[in-house]
Amino acid sequence: MKWIYQFGVDDFLAMTNLSKGLRARLAEVAEIRPPEVVLDREDPDGTRKWLLRLADGNAIETVFIPEEGRGTLCVSSQVGCTLNCDFCATARQGYNRNLTVDEIIGQLWVANRALGNRPREARVITNVVLMGMGEPLLNFDNVVRAVSLMLDDHAYGLSRRRVTLSTAGVVPALDRLREATGGIALAVSLHAVTDELRDRLVPLNKKYPIAELLEACRRYTADGRSRTTFEYVMLDGVNDRPEDARALVRLLQGVPAKVNLIPFNPFPGAPYRRSPQAAIDRFRDILLRAGITTITRKTRGQEIDAACGQLAGRVRDRTRRSRRLQQGRGAA
Ligand code: SAH
Repeated sequence: MKWIYQFGVDDFLAMTNLSKGLRARLAEVAEIRPPEVVLDREDPDGTRKWLLRLADGNAIETVFIPEEGRGTLCVSSQVGCTLNCDFCATARQGYNRNLTVDEIIGQLWVANRALGNRPREARVITNVVLMGMGEPLLNFDNVVRAVSLMLDDHAYGLSRRRVTLSTAGVVPALDRLREATGGIALAVSLHAVTDELRDRLVPLNKKYPIAELLEACRRYTADGRSRTTFEYVMLDGVNDRPEDARALVRLLQGVPAKVNLIPFNPFPGAPYRRSPQAAIDRFRDILLRAGITTITRKTRGQEIDAACGQLAGRVRDRTRRSRRLQQGRGAA
């Protein structure tokens, strides 16, 4: 595991502390095959995006975001997405399939190698967020197995609070996530304070409405040591009024919470505009005055379409999605 994940070696024969016989046997029965990098772009702000081609021809995107004192890798969990959130570019791509465990962990492998495979004390990727393409909780088993490699000391050895899963709110999977991972950090895409608006922005809300979602978050953080990060995309004239902020304060009463305001990132054909900075600041100040830790997420990687909600990749076959929806098995 160390050879593969920490040293980034992709050839069993190079694993020189294994016996020759074992190396030869491994090379016979297994292969180390990372996703193929088809595009590697860097934004002037240091954000880097890889377009990765999978064995079946689909492509996904992975983004590295360097910041003062840390480096965050944003990882995808599905090819496309079924959720159809109105303000997200990934939704426009349709859905093809879940990523396999190796395709999820392979994103770390590729990024880690591109960033120099530094030893742990000097690691460049200090945090992982499952916030790329797809809904990670709808690919539960593979995501959990990939997360266990992120946490495993023989692999990436990240602490639980440095691995964050972002979900649109698949309520039943939240309890299972805590059990299966020991409670990695949780982010929830809330985006609205009423079910009426949230039904429109995040259609999954029709299945798991706000009250149930917040109850699940409370259970997730019941140990009293952690807080849920609520993501809230700032859409001009839609959800950014002061009364929305005040309603959010009331909603989060009794829920261990932090809030991340995300200025909307536009994409071609998007039916929304970003809230003006003044509206974002006013919204933030209302939350702060109520004692809720709130930060406005910096927009990073915009010139290379790497910002939140802009990941598109390439989804090859969309027929499965329409079949799923026809059969009524679509998640939303
Ligand atoms: N399906 C998961 C993981 C995607 S995370 C989830 O919904 O949480 C991507 C984050 O970016 C989510 O909070 C999502 O709501 C947000 N997002 C999507 N499109 C966006 C856009 N155009 N501008 C800003 N944020 C966006």
